[in-house]
Amino acid sequence: MTTAPVSVPAAFAGSPARGLICRECGHQTSLAPVHVCEQCFAPLEVEYDLDKLKLVTRQSIEAGPQTIWRYAGLLPAGQDPATRVDLGAGMTRLREAPHLARALGMRKLYVKDDSGNPTHSFKDRVVSVALSAARAFGFDTVSCASTGNLANSVAAHATHVGLKAVVFIPSDLERGKIVQTAVYGQTLVAVDGNYDDVNRLCSEIAENEDWAFVNVNVRPYYAEGSKTLGYEVAEQLGWRLPGQVVIPMASGSLLTKVDKAFGELTKLGLVEESPYRVFGAQATGCSPIATAFENGWDTVRPVKPETIAKSLAIGNPADGPYALDVVRRTGGAMGHVSDAELVEGIQLLAETEGVFAETAGGVTVATLRQLLKNGLVDPDVETVLYNTGDGLKTIDAVAAQSVPTVTIAPSYGAFLKSGWAS
Ligand SMILES: *Cc1c(COP(=O)(O)O)cnc(C)c1O
Ligand SMILES: [Zn+2]
Repeated sequence: MTTAPVSVPAAFAGSPARGLICRECGHQTSLAPVHVCEQCFAPLEVEYDLDKLKLVTRQSIEAGPQTIWRYAGLLPAGQDPATRVDLGAGMTRLREAPHLARALGMRKLYVKDDSGNPTHSFKDRVVSVALSAARAFGFDTVSCASTGNLANSVAAHATHVGLKAVVFIPSDLERGKIVQTAVYGQTLVAVDGNYDDVNRLCSEIAENEDWAFVNVNVRPYYAEGSKTLGYEVAEQLGWRLPGQVVIPMASGSLLTKVDKAFGELTKLGLVEESPYRVFGAQATGCSPIATAFENGWDTVRPVKPETIAKSLAIGNPADGPYALDVVRRTGGAMGHVSDAELVEGIQLLAETEGVFAETAGGVTVATLRQLLKNGLVDPDVETVLYNTGDGLKTIDAVAAQSVPTVTIAPSYGAFLKSGWAS
């Protein structure tokens, strides 16, 4: 391991981050808008100064705002409220889900409901941190390749603080996600191709434009925002870890960061050490990580996505191998479900708990059901299911069956005749 001198840019004063570190060879570099190791081209990750993380206590967190920024002492950027980019993401509800638990034959189940974020998906967490870093680096334009939710969130957060945004999406995205991005009046570029095509294009553009690409050059900072989904669940359970978590996977980043968060909380003594198992969920039509798990592969073979779960449709997932490591290390499992099953998952969550999830949430519910059936999830162990997005963004998934019970003329007689009077 080389130990290059590391330094912290002035705009990162107060950050517990000490630099970036290569996930493969351990090469260290200073905090900068870079995402691959100059020695081996593997992805870079934020490295923290343990002594600075140790300044964080349960009390200091609890005294913070009702947003992800209560964990500022555990995040790489955004310590300075003057450059922080904040629409109020985080501290979403952890709902007990007794009716869904009963339907699935489980003893204790919670839904961590991230549809309650400002732009209605978990992406507000990562974008808030990424754009805070981008501002600290002095960028005036931010950009991203998106499967939909990221586009919504980047456009909204950038607009909120007067940054310019240039957002790239596959042109066949759901209407709800296109409208919810375009409405902010930023630049929206629809590309005739799938997400992996858009992402490849963005990597090329990133080499020539001095922009902060949320999931390219500032990806190490972006990814850290997902840790807050681990911190919050532990805090909301009364400062302890759940026994099992079920998490949807696109690139696989979110899953790895929930595990990282649980590890940090344990190491810092903010929760007692306790075993937990991490489970990953994908749609069969784009299941490169779950398929690698199924087959016992260490590498993830790219696929061409073909599923209505567009927010999870990354055929070449950057964090796939790391997600496999986490799931194997914790004794969890992965599963994948068909589009028909994910629609059933949306329906089941809605009908049991009154929570309307987007397709990714349907994938997670249906995968949990399958993992239970296969004996891979323990029905007696307390479990948290992550719902990462809002059903209003993907209404087409259930629109055909979600219609009025009956349509009648505007008269009492017509109502009586409809058969629905008591
Ligand atoms: C982006 C996204 C995910 C997961 O993303 P990762 O790339 O695996 O971190 C999950 N659910 C929804 C709704 C998303 O938009
Ligand atoms: Zn390296």
